[in-house]
Amino acid sequence: MEPDASGLDPEDWTALRALGHRMVDDMVDHLAGVRQRPVWQPMPPGLRAELAKKLPRAPSEPEAVYAQFRRLIEPYATGNTHPRFMGWVHGGGNPVGMLAELLAGGLNANLGGRDHAPIEVERQVIRWAAEMLGLPPKTSGLLVTGTSIANLIAVLVARTAALGADVRRDGLGGSRLVAYASVAAHGCVSRAMDMAGLGTNALRLIACDGEGRMVPSALAEAVARDRDAGAMPFMVVGTAGSVDIGAIDDLAGLARFCRAQDLWLHVDAAFGAMAALSPRLRPLLAGIEQADSIAFDFHKWAQVPYDCGCILVRDPAAQLAAFAAPAAYLRRENRGLAGGHPWPCDLGPDLSRGFRALKVWMTLLVYGADRLGAIVEQCCGLARALADRVDAEPSLERLAPVALNIVCFRFAAAEGDLDALNVAIVADLQEAGIAAPSTTTLGGRLAIRAAIVNHRTRIEDIEALVAAVIQVGNARARA
Ligand SMILES: *Cc1c(COP(=O)(O)O)cnc(C)c1O
Repeated sequence: MEPDASGLDPEDWTALRALGHRMVDDMVDHLAGVRQRPVWQPMPPGLRAELAKKLPRAPSEPEAVYAQFRRLIEPYATGNTHPRFMGWVHGGGNPVGMLAELLAGGLNANLGGRDHAPIEVERQVIRWAAEMLGLPPKTSGLLVTGTSIANLIAVLVARTAALGADVRRDGLGGSRLVAYASVAAHGCVSRAMDMAGLGTNALRLIACDGEGRMVPSALAEAVARDRDAGAMPFMVVGTAGSVDIGAIDDLAGLARFCRAQDLWLHVDAAFGAMAALSPRLRPLLAGIEQADSIAFDFHKWAQVPYDCGCILVRDPAAQLAAFAAPAAYLRRENRGLAGGHPWPCDLGPDLSRGFRALKVWMTLLVYGADRLGAIVEQCCGLARALADRVDAEPSLERLAPVALNIVCFRFAAAEGDLDALNVAIVADLQEAGIAAPSTTTLGGRLAIRAAIVNHRTRIEDIEALVAAVIQVGNARARA
């Protein structure tokens, strides 16, 4: 039989409509019942094998494929929607954002360019982001996959600002650009230097103080040393919310230093940016409004479903200079669908881009920025409560100060290899589906790391984590 080329829409929409309604019902039940399920469970090898099939040449009924989703995929996701997921820094998502994804999929808009409402929505989201962080209204920016790419874009914009637009044609030549970040900076900053062709060695990692903040005198010394050696310092990357302990660099101090030294100040505020929505926490970010560029994620503490990061650039001309490229097939016009320039593809590396903006726009409008700020505050309160429990518990030891929402501690009531013991405790908790903290290493010691990011997390989840760590720790110590 010849394959059917009559298009992909059904002749009669009734069955697909019913399936869609069922999917929405099922996923609402999924979210409403999240607390009753294990945080995470490993995907059984048999089910993994079932996914490994040859390219499907023939069609299947949508209902049958959906049944596969329910059986093979839904129960074995990351678990970050769950209130006791505390590993890494994962946002919990939200139900309105989930529905927005359905709408965005229906429109199937391409936000690379041209003149249409979805691009206006993204521009509005960028204006809101700038307002939230105190940048000027004309700030330019883009929604991207995440802070990793936002940091890469910042490096490229700062590079072009330092060397002029010719660098895009001629390459770096002999220029020895060097950048600075603290040793606590996220690894993606170093990768951004790599991907930008500057090399990871050109990122100087500056020492931190006991609170995990970049030491200003060490930064000044490093810049002076590089200038003496004939290198070209061009950029400082401040961290607002370090990934290991949530520390925030002295951003106002960094801004002063960068102004005096004519350096680009970029701030990696991947999750910390959202503290700006809490009147109580906002002072911790003082100085962020002076940054030349800021990278942060909507998919972490802003609870927008994955994926969605954001890059903001104070000077729109600088962002345009780093990425705009004419092409005959992308000709801009003053009227018609080819109007509305500059286009988002002039501001970053992607040409085709999805409608990430809709889930951010709907999340912000439905819940309001104040409520998101209150959730950020609640997470920090829970982190303080966890720190207090740890401090009060003789078998537990806290390993870092708590600046925002991250608590690092370990079970210490045992002889022998405490690092291995705590690695095992974390894996036990994850595999039992009780809670999902992660680990980090602080001062050579392995820590259980709980990052409270999820809007669903409550004090009983904190208590469950502490109780489980002690119980598993004691059982393993006795064994
Ligand atoms: C999570 C994180 C990143 C990376 O962001 P992605 O969205 O995962 O690409 C960068 N910096 C910090 C401080 C982070 O916490």
